[in-house]
Amino acid sequence: MRPDATSRVFLGDYPTPVEPLPTLSRPGASLWVKRDDLTAPAYGGNKVRKLEYVLGDARARGKTELLTAGAVGSHHVLATALYGARNGFRVRAVLVPQPRTEHALVNLRAELALGLDASATREALVPFALGRRYRKETYFVQVGGSSVLGAMGYVDGARELSAQVRSGQLPEPDLVVVTLGSGGTAAGLAAGFALEGMKTRVLGVSVVGPTAVFAWYTHHLARACVARAGGSVSRGDLAARLTTTNRWLGRGYGYATDEGARAITLAKDAGLTLDATYTAKSFAAALDVLEGGREKVVLYWHTLSSAPMAPLLEGALSEVPPSLLALLRGG
Ligand SMILES: *Cc1c(COP(=O)(O)O)cnc(C)c1O
Repeated sequence: MRPDATSRVFLGDYPTPVEPLPTLSRPGASLWVKRDDLTAPAYGGNKVRKLEYVLGDARARGKTELLTAGAVGSHHVLATALYGARNGFRVRAVLVPQPRTEHALVNLRAELALGLDASATREALVPFALGRRYRKETYFVQVGGSSVLGAMGYVDGARELSAQVRSGQLPEPDLVVVTLGSGGTAAGLAAGFALEGMKTRVLGVSVVGPTAVFAWYTHHLARACVARAGGSVSRGDLAARLTTTNRWLGRGYGYATDEGARAITLAKDAGLTLDATYTAKSFAAALDVLEGGREKVVLYWHTLSSAPMAPLLEGALSEVPPSLLALLRGG
């Protein structure tokens, strides 16, 4: 098999639904949601589309072990542990600290229950820790799954939305609001909308610093996705349709904000469950856009799994190794 072939492992159920959120819409400005919380029944959210290409590439290259890095309670590490193991890979990760929350602790316990071989390090030492663990059979899964290949999963996501627009399930959005972490999701969407010739623009709401670095990387990824898809979209078109903002970040990754807390409550009344680290901040931004009244059709791209965690915690140890537990700091 050609290692570069876009071999893909199928993990998700597509298309994910699109739904209106009438209680949060305004006269002349409607809010919709793309339910990527439902990408897969065992564990959904936005890591599923990315891992389909990433795991496919690892398999095509004959690798048997995945190695990645991330915050100790990260969805990326959890999703890689789950879908890696299910597809026959050994999964190892280098984990770094994040603020202590119940959500992060549950994720860590699930990662370990899924058989993740985890070790703790400090953020500055991640490259060395990865280098030490790298072997011939190792495939490196980029942080957040946001390699160009991973982001291609969201070019597919954009194409899926385009088909839903064409079939009349929703009006063509003026703006998609999505959480921006490592950038693959926002980049793939912007590239995909451009390739589809849609008018839809993307607002990436940063939840990780340094935001300038991630914003730069997201634009770079979007261009790389267009090139990989073999499309011709001008640099200017791509740049104009992808905006990032750090206005909702607060103290930083993993720290809750007041606007986020308000967004969690409003979303809950509308039937959506958000988390404080990722989706509360971007949903707050979406509500702000609606209030601004400049966009007629706003689509919130939901990226947080809504699958129950209990099955993933089966067989979880009651005791988490102290070196890993110590990565959940303060709070
Ligand atoms: C990882 C994650 C993101 C960030 O996506 P990127 O592609 O890394 O920018 C957003 N929301 C949730 C819930 C996530 O787990």
